[in-house]
Amino acid sequence: MATRIYILRFPKETSSEPMIYQLVKQYDIEFNILKADILPQREGVMILELKGVKDKVKKSLDYLRSFDVQAERLAAAINRDDEKCFQCGACTGICPVGALAIKRPEMEVIFDPEKCTGCALCVPICPVRAMEVSPVSSAFSEAEEKVVV
Ligand code: SF4
Ligand code: SF4
Repeated sequence: MATRIYILRFPKETSSEPMIYQLVKQYDIEFNILKADILPQREGVMILELKGVKDKVKKSLDYLRSFDVQAERLAAAINRDDEKCFQCGACTGICPVGALAIKRPEMEVIFDPEKCTGCALCVPICPVRAMEVSPVSSAFSEAEEKVVV
């Protein structure tokens, strides 16, 4: 399974097509809309987290591109909101590089941004969404600036 975050730019001709619904139906993709600005008959921008079998994620992107949607993978920089984190440890088992680990004997969950590859696997697993994709808002703003209203 792969979890990836993409910034999608929809042309105004196709922005009202039910494409995201088709991702679930045709490619068995789970999705999470992190941010969206899409109105009928206007170009739109969406930050979308896709989770599914790698091959199907790729096919779902090909499907979107067949509607002239530009899909660009977001090189995620991950931050932890320490105010939200309640040290449950759920994220430590999923991090493939040990950037989230339990420090013993304190049993404190440590986040090491130096080790983090930005894979975003920890984002959906955190029950309080303490793991955040930090550049989403700036990437979204940049994309919004390019949208012709
Ligand atoms: S899953 Fe979330 S709340 Fe739990 S330790 Fe990790 S970041 Fe903190
Ligand atoms: S984004 Fe990936 S590498 Fe970074 S802390 Fe989360 S699971 Fe680990």
